[in-house]
Amino acid sequence: MKMIMAIFSAALLMLVDEASAQTTYSVSVSVHASVRALSKEQVRQILKKASRILRKNSVSNGDADVACDVTFTLKGPIRTFGSANTPPIIMDEQQRDAVHEVDSDVADVDFHVKVVDEIQFCRPELTDPSFNGCAFPIESRSIIVVRPRRNFPDHILWAHEFGHLTGLGHRDSQCALMTSCSVAELKSVTRPRVNKQECSCLRGGPGFCQLPAAVRCPPQPVSCQ
Ligand SMILES: [Zn+2]
Repeated sequence: MKMIMAIFSAALLMLVDEASAQTTYSVSVSVHASVRALSKEQVRQILKKASRILRKNSVSNGDADVACDVTFTLKGPIRTFGSANTPPIIMDEQQRDAVHEVDSDVADVDFHVKVVDEIQFCRPELTDPSFNGCAFPIESRSIIVVRPRRNFPDHILWAHEFGHLTGLGHRDSQCALMTSCSVAELKSVTRPRVNKQECSCLRGGPGFCQLPAAVRCPPQPVSCQ
């Protein structure tokens, strides 16, 4: 009887585990001293919009366009950083890694966001003159993003960079959250596409999926409506 009870409780534990699979991620945010201060409210708004755009609240919920139940929440104060090693404009690998290292000792958060002025270096194989965000190397559990701007979809940028942290690469679709083009092009898209496999990575969390090789932005623009 004891044996049966033990097996039963193990099965029950597994069920509980499945049901409580983590889909809410807590985030620490650190802003470079040269960037205009971001209020907690501004950060909360970005995270709220990022969560909303993933959940979609839409009638369309097929395998290629999944309503993905993921929520981001701010934890702790908005911190400030800035030193000779961590300049406002990231120009090389050392500076990128130094910024990833900032506040990496903040415990009990799932990942860290660092806000800077400009990112001119992200990965050696990417030669673009500048980037809106950089999540590499993903083991740092840190995303570097450029400061929020007027008419720029910062919430999509933050969700896209989080996607990289979970192991998602780029997809050759300009309508996808993980587009290989600038996320600025998703500004007026009400539902940046997340497919079923991408959603399982987003719900699995940082490092859950295997990061593939880089995909470049194709030259022909397409309509996403
Ligand atoms: Zn990307």
